[in-house]
Amino acid sequence: LLCCCSIALSNADHMIYKDPKQPVSRRVKDLLKRMTLEEKIGQMTQIDRTVASAKVLKNYYIGSVLSGGGSVPSKKATAKTWIDMVNGFQKGSLSTRLKIPMLYGIDAVHGHNNVYKATIFPHNVGLGATRDPKLVKKIGAATALEVRATGIPYAFAPCIAVCRDPRWGRCFESYSEETEVVRSMTEIIPGLQGDIPAKSRKGVPFLAGKKNVLASAKHFVGDGGTTKGINENNTVASRRDLMRIHMPAYYDSIIKGVGSVMISYSSWNGLKMHANRQLITGFLKNTLHFRGFVISDWQGLDRITSPAHANYTYSIVTGVMAGIDMIMVPYNYTEFIDGLTTLVNEKFIPMTRIDDAVSRILRVKFTMGLFEYPLADYSMINYLGHKDHRELAREAVRKSLVLLKNGKYANKPLLPLSKKASKILVAGTHADNIGNQCGGWTIDWQGQSGDITDGTTILTAIKKTVDPKTRVVFSENPDSKYVESNKFDYAIVVVGEPPYAETFGDSLNLTLPEQGLNTIKTVCGSVKCVVVLVTGRPVVIQPYLSKIDALVAAWLPGTEGQGVADVLFGDYGFTGKLSRTWFKNVDQLPMNVGDSHYDPLFAFGFGLTTKPVKAN
Ligand code: BGC
Repeated sequence: LLCCCSIALSNADHMIYKDPKQPVSRRVKDLLKRMTLEEKIGQMTQIDRTVASAKVLKNYYIGSVLSGGGSVPSKKATAKTWIDMVNGFQKGSLSTRLKIPMLYGIDAVHGHNNVYKATIFPHNVGLGATRDPKLVKKIGAATALEVRATGIPYAFAPCIAVCRDPRWGRCFESYSEETEVVRSMTEIIPGLQGDIPAKSRKGVPFLAGKKNVLASAKHFVGDGGTTKGINENNTVASRRDLMRIHMPAYYDSIIKGVGSVMISYSSWNGLKMHANRQLITGFLKNTLHFRGFVISDWQGLDRITSPAHANYTYSIVTGVMAGIDMIMVPYNYTEFIDGLTTLVNEKFIPMTRIDDAVSRILRVKFTMGLFEYPLADYSMINYLGHKDHRELAREAVRKSLVLLKNGKYANKPLLPLSKKASKILVAGTHADNIGNQCGGWTIDWQGQSGDITDGTTILTAIKKTVDPKTRVVFSENPDSKYVESNKFDYAIVVVGEPPYAETFGDSLNLTLPEQGLNTIKTVCGSVKCVVVLVTGRPVVIQPYLSKIDALVAAWLPGTEGQGVADVLFGDYGFTGKLSRTWFKNVDQLPMNVGDSHYDPLFAFGFGLTTKPVKAN
């Protein structure tokens, strides 16, 4: 009997980490004690899909794979192609001794933006203008479904940067310059991950199920506060200001169960965030009780030194000891694995630190059901670009538009526009261009102009909205003779910034491209005109304002341009409020609401409203 019993016990014991009925903490403990150092370090390593294969995942026990930037299997890859690829990698992980599934991650920062035919939602700057956290939560849930449709369980979103200077090339990824607006928008986290159960312990990551994805609050912390908005640069701020301006949204994210936090490339008062043990381990983990995992940014460890990768051993010790648990794309993953192994063997890095990192990663993997459902099936592919999501994106576009000026003609404001005009002119580089409408982080890392994915351009939407008898004439860059010789009732000029991402978007002058300015000057000088700005941030507009009859900030609306026409023509009213201060000239920057030198062109929170019109 005794003998039987001990066999039964050892079997049960053997199964603990595989048993979904066991508490996550027991499963983590059980699995961790079975792992070799090699297996543990593998879990801490995230590699790009371009260097991944089932064999690499198996041989190095790799814990995670990503599509960095626009790293896609092919430009027009279908959901099926994505699933095939992700599952192909997963089979490598499942053929290891302990069968620990890998976690696949991607930037889904305004919908599933790397993927052809996905619904592209407005970028965060526009969502901030909606002041509608419930809507943003729904966007999170829709994004999760589209990401899962391609077999992916992890999104590097949301960006909860508080962008304090629009010269920053990532300003459009920030909901607002104002902490409270950013805090409210962390509702996207329960949208992505599912609602956290009432009895959950604070800080413990949560993920509801197969229709949700793991989120990542980024970039910890102070990414939006760098001097002159220079990307990856230094944020000079007192501890009080860092805590008051940039930290609160992390607190909210943790309360809402965020499973991972990504570290910022930037520095705080000269110290790289990837090296900041006091803030990562001391504050985020110990004070805020964050119990998910901390992920580095792409080659973020390498960039602890400048030039990058100058002293890799130093970078590994510094980053890992600061509290980073998963390393996103070490410059050379075998060098990283060898380096970390040596550092642990030689006791420069204690095993307790490795165990902490691996426990956190495993905790998330168990919580999200990855061990139970490591392979994606094809049952969700129809969620990609689903019509309900497009409808939701269209609603978000409508609510994100901010009406900055609405001049009157014969005592009647120009907007909403009449649908029954006889002839109208639509002009500008951004009127008929899905790529420009979506901005950076769309299909390509940097985005791209042109017909890059499915959607409705603003021009197409205008044509669909006006009376069938109204003639809509489109000219991207008409000359004044043309405008003057045609008797247009009014013109809609849609201009803006070309797509960009990260450092490529840093700009010290914030001027619109020459062609767009010319279109404004030419058209608005000759005919009643509405200018619709498609930009990731406020730009220099004051010098042209007197010529412009009505001005609308449309931000980067994404694929559903119909939302713009819905509001221009009065099917819905304008309700959006600036999530950022609109400056008069760049010499005022940085200038944020509450500053003593506050003298804006349009203040934070500004936005004219219109009422929907019935029969227009
Ligand atoms: C960005 C991150 C992003 C990562 C992966 C980095 O360059 O800073 O926001 O999640 O790339 O694509």
